[in-house]
Amino acid sequence: MDGVTDWAAYAAGLQVDGRALIGGQRVSAIAGDTFDCISPIDGRKVAEVCRGQAADIDRAVQGARVAFDDGRWAHRAPRDRKKVMLRFADLVRAHADELAALETLDMGKPVAMSRAVDVQSAADCLRWYGEAIDKLYDEVAPTARTALALITREPVGVVGAIVPWNYPILMSSWKIAPALAAGNSVVLKPSEKAALTALRLADLALQAGLPDHVFNVVPGFGHEAGQALALHDGVDCLAFTGSTRTGKQIVQYAGQGRLKRVFTELGGKSPFLVLDDADVEAAARTCASAIFFNQGESCNAPSRAIVARGVIDAFTERVQALAAGFQPGDPWQRATPMGAVVDRTQLDTVLGYIAAGLQDGARLVTGGQQVRADTGGFYVSPTVFTDVQPGMRIAREEIFGPVLSILPADSIEAAVALANDSNYGLAASVWSRDLDRALTVARTLRAGTVHVNSYDEDDITVPFGGFKDSGNGRDKSLHAFDKYTELKTTWIRLSAGLAP
Ligand code: NAD
Repeated sequence: MDGVTDWAAYAAGLQVDGRALIGGQRVSAIAGDTFDCISPIDGRKVAEVCRGQAADIDRAVQGARVAFDDGRWAHRAPRDRKKVMLRFADLVRAHADELAALETLDMGKPVAMSRAVDVQSAADCLRWYGEAIDKLYDEVAPTARTALALITREPVGVVGAIVPWNYPILMSSWKIAPALAAGNSVVLKPSEKAALTALRLADLALQAGLPDHVFNVVPGFGHEAGQALALHDGVDCLAFTGSTRTGKQIVQYAGQGRLKRVFTELGGKSPFLVLDDADVEAAARTCASAIFFNQGESCNAPSRAIVARGVIDAFTERVQALAAGFQPGDPWQRATPMGAVVDRTQLDTVLGYIAAGLQDGARLVTGGQQVRADTGGFYVSPTVFTDVQPGMRIAREEIFGPVLSILPADSIEAAVALANDSNYGLAASVWSRDLDRALTVARTLRAGTVHVNSYDEDDITVPFGGFKDSGNGRDKSLHAFDKYTELKTTWIRLSAGLAP
């Protein structure tokens, strides 16, 4: 439980520092430039944030390189790194109110969710990777007796991490927790739309005892700081989460200059299959809460419901009724189910897709408008379309807002074909009372995560990432260490036997 009685007043009293954190210090951009951080809650300016450019990225990467090479963090015993990571996690937990308020101020989600979900999950993530790092063993290969081959994992070096705005503290944590625990130095470029919690994370990491230059945060725009980081020759590994469009650019940057290992966690248009024997009530409840959670700004949101013709009316009616319970409200109020979308551009994008759906002939069942415009903020009502055809833009493209498209399917085969007819492959869900049928469908779905009679189950122990245009990387779980470690083989020649 939080100890805040009036969240709006609490947030108004926060001192927001938008400067970069490089080399263990808060610093302004070398050129002195800043950009305005505007709260989507009411359109007001919250702070000025450092507009990092290539020179600032260079400074951060150079420092991170030196820190990595001198071993001040990388050479520490895993159990020592663990102690720092656990203190870091504890500090995140201790600052949960402040971090939750910053997250909500910056990107508009209800503060109750920032506090209960995002910040707690970030602390859990830091703790989990800290705990894990001194429990991983290396290998000895089963070679002939005349040699010993050790297979060891080493940190890759300097990790450049670039993250989006929809779960700012959590996406940052998914990158930095395994990267730091494994001994790397990190330069993190948060989204220009939500950089505040990433900056506070870096303060707390220092306070926890992370040495200077090991974790740096340089805010700025994608085409400036982001591109400079992705192109920098001092970076060994690029870990990117964001849109597929940017992800494709990042992969190209990684191939220029010195080759970097590159991992992408990208967008989605995840299908939610409701077969004719499904528990329609449970399916409708789960679908509504998953598509409207976080204002629909979730990469894995189930934005395409593919529903058996026999149950589509019942499903649509229930989702329509449930949508009424997700009307956006004041993000500072604890009971608010949905907040503001991140900025005016995103608002216009979502409204543009709604207009495209109407123009293409889909039927608007509920929502479809901007609401709470009098606040000066950016809010969209929960929106449901039915009679959606597979070729429509609202059936194919990631909207990243509270918009559900419902498509009919006349058979299981047709439902599966529709589900897989997408460039994306992040998540999927299948609903059926017949587990054999559900699992058979689950096996044919091309997605990194498939939920059966559920959605959005979440645990740090399972990998998260996609197939196809949803990217190639996996965050979370022990598999995340694969991204941030190199495998090294060391051969040791041995005698064939004991000397006579
Ligand atoms: P985006 O691609 O616009 O930006 C992501 C990050 O990349 C930001 O920090 C941005 O500044 C930076 N960037 C932009 N252009 C760049 C460039 N040319 N070079 C280097 N960096 C650049 O995405 P967004 O709008 O911030 O985030 C929403 C997207 O993220 C959605 O597509 C969503 O599905 C995806 N996402 C995916 C996951 C996942 O785990 N798969 C998780 C969260 C969000």
